[in-house]
Amino acid sequence: MATLLVKNTHTLITMDDHQREIPGGGLFVRDGYIEQVGKSSELPTSADEIVDLEGNIVLPGLINTHHHFYQTLTRAVPAAQDANLFTWLKTLYPIWARLNPEDIFVSTQTALAELAHSGCTTASDHLYLFPNGSRLDDEISAAKIIGMRLQASRGSMSLGESQGGLPPDSIVDDEEAILKDSQRLIQRYHDPKPGAFVQIVLAPCSPFSVTGELMKQSAVLAREYGVYLHTHLAETEDEESFCLQKFGHRPVGYMKAVNWVGEDVWFAHSVYVNNEEIKSFAQHGCGVAHCPSSNMRLASGIAPIRDYLAAGVKVGLGVDGSASNDGSHMLGEVRQAMLLARVRDGITGFSLSKDTNRKLMTAREALKLATRGGASVLGRSDIGSLENGKCADFIAINLNRLEYAGGLQDPVAVVIFGQPVNVDHTVVGGKFVVKNGQLVTMDERELVRRHNQCARRLLADR
Ligand SMILES: [Zn+2]
Repeated sequence: MATLLVKNTHTLITMDDHQREIPGGGLFVRDGYIEQVGKSSELPTSADEIVDLEGNIVLPGLINTHHHFYQTLTRAVPAAQDANLFTWLKTLYPIWARLNPEDIFVSTQTALAELAHSGCTTASDHLYLFPNGSRLDDEISAAKIIGMRLQASRGSMSLGESQGGLPPDSIVDDEEAILKDSQRLIQRYHDPKPGAFVQIVLAPCSPFSVTGELMKQSAVLAREYGVYLHTHLAETEDEESFCLQKFGHRPVGYMKAVNWVGEDVWFAHSVYVNNEEIKSFAQHGCGVAHCPSSNMRLASGIAPIRDYLAAGVKVGLGVDGSASNDGSHMLGEVRQAMLLARVRDGITGFSLSKDTNRKLMTAREALKLATRGGASVLGRSDIGSLENGKCADFIAINLNRLEYAGGLQDPVAVVIFGQPVNVDHTVVGGKFVVKNGQLVTMDERELVRRHNQCARRLLADR
């Protein structure tokens, strides 16, 4: 039995149903789970490890619902810097075709380390190409070393250029092999229990890179095993035209046609949706991974997040792949989500409303997207808030810093409104991944050296 006592925080933010914010709060953790939350004076006084967090704000660990870890190897590639989605993809596909198992392994650790520094404790990753013998296993074993929770999506691409798809034929795979490998991964790694460190998700890449048949068969397989389904949807106007032309449906209608509706489905982006489609997401329980930085970077558009929330749609945040962001900063993404929702309110005229009860998206609403929202999108009731019985996944930030000076009258707001910082502590299942600002599960300098070596090989003249 290992116990951890966290005490004397400046404020502990629970994100529970009552939105409790406890000045001087703390946590008592046993074997990776929270046993007590409350004022420090009400908690046990002894534990195997005691951490005094005076001056720190403690928040639930942030949850990233959409990423492509391997893209950390192709950040800011010159030819793809200033292009929209389809051109960006066509520029990068041939580079990604050179990925190998070591690249997948190393880039997973880089992406997760960066996320851990930015306050993330659970990340969903969408790996959809497997060139040169790469496997999802490479990612799963790399994540285990970092010590974060991983929703590992077994992605896929099967619709090559010769069949009217976007990716070159050389990087698409046989559908039977995709389904067989998906089943193998679920059987080998998927842990359905609370506190799971690895869960498998089935994730054909997008309407323009897989067939309808693979979408349908993936849904059948996922439901047979009770795993979740994930894909990119309604990201750009190009995609909408593609779906209308090729399938005779708008993207959301196409998902209905291939049985991709339900509590067990979440979509990345979902920028181009109408009111009926928003209602249908709410009705069927489909979730959305909102990726504000990526949508801005690729000039994709602004997702109607406040309309989703008003309709009761589950919404989480995603940093998206690091070739379209090009950072993986979760706290930064919370700020972007809040600011971009305000830009949209400005464009739609909401901000001009005379009704003083109508507010812009608040810092706490944005933070909820990255905590409770992310947990609900991923179907995990064991994370996203600091409550008795939940996983001991939390972050701590020292408030006595330049970036927050003058804003301590509302510590939650200053953390979101202020310049995104790297956190001081990141704890996953009661264990430190980042301590005093340092990654403790790996040698970070060595990781960066190895990562840059892989990136140089990948981008070398072909
Ligand atoms: Zn993506």
